[in-house]
Amino acid sequence: MAEITTRCAIIGGGPAGYTAAIYASRANLAPLLIEGPQPGGQLTTTTEVENFPGYPQGVSGIEMMEEFRSQALRFGTDVRLGVVAEVDFSSRPYTLNMDNGDIIKTETVIIATGASARYLGLPDEQKYMGMGVSACATCDGFFYRNRRVAVVGGGDTACEEALYLSSLAEKVYMIVRKDYLRASKVMQQRVADKENIEVLYNCNTLALYGQDVVEGAKLVEYQGTDRERTFDLPIDGFFLAIGHTPNTAVFKGQVAMDEHGYIKVAYPTTATDVPGVFAAGDVADTIYRQAVNAAASGCRAAMDAERFLTEE
Ligand code: NDP
Repeated sequence: MAEITTRCAIIGGGPAGYTAAIYASRANLAPLLIEGPQPGGQLTTTTEVENFPGYPQGVSGIEMMEEFRSQALRFGTDVRLGVVAEVDFSSRPYTLNMDNGDIIKTETVIIATGASARYLGLPDEQKYMGMGVSACATCDGFFYRNRRVAVVGGGDTACEEALYLSSLAEKVYMIVRKDYLRASKVMQQRVADKENIEVLYNCNTLALYGQDVVEGAKLVEYQGTDRERTFDLPIDGFFLAIGHTPNTAVFKGQVAMDEHGYIKVAYPTTATDVPGVFAAGDVADTIYRQAVNAAASGCRAAMDAERFLTEE
């Protein structure tokens, strides 16, 4: 067990955390970055990243995050593996208790723990991850040009993903478990106006099938009723859009959040309601959820932390 002191602790090793680390290091804050349970963040679960500027040929998510990491290391970021088990923001220096027993005392904190896409929990989702299963149409839709895809969910995100995919794919199915869409009326209308989107109401997914990549989904309609029937839906892509969960459990009661657990920031700054604690990336973003936005807000968080320390 060690006690470590720093001026700036960054929690999270995705694009937001690493960009904050690059800026904070270059501003001489000598930051410490804790990578968390999924080093590299959500991008490491996608195959190819083609929409991050600066990579005209595309880059694998893992490779891109290794480059973020080495750039932060080059400027002296102290990168540590581990998970923050508990935090105390009641008095400064703030305390982060690590799962290995280490205690970090820090003047400022940048929370960049991201959000996790929700999955149905089917074993096939893991089996075909990156091989037809995705939770981000903007990231992966391009690979399904002129193909047949399905989007699971009936909320605004699902409609948005279906609409985005409808301009690329030949056919888009929406798999909706109820007999209505939860999405806003305007989104419902946009979906209805698209000829190549078909909504499959009262349907749940039982499994996926395919040799090495997804070739189809096994669906059940009217599950648990006397009208129940199962059928195969041939598709090449299976997109989850059943919501995201911000990774904020450890900060409950320490910093203000909205009703979904996203951290509230005083936009356009990254300031939370706790002086010296900032939030960047998907943990505070319910709308855009893109790496380039996460990186940009990581930059803002580092500049906010630097200004906070200077003003003191
Ligand atoms: P929502 O919680 O609104 O919708 C989730 C959808 O997934 C629902 O249709 C839900 O079904 C379905 N679902 C959940 N779990 C399962 C499951 N296990 N199996 C099958 N279906 C499931 O999440 P969103 O991500 O769509 O939206 C989150 C928030 O962000 C909302 O407030 C939304 O309005 C907002 N948003 C706004 C946008 C905009 O304004 N442009 C764009 C995107 C999001 P059921 O209805 O049966 O519960």
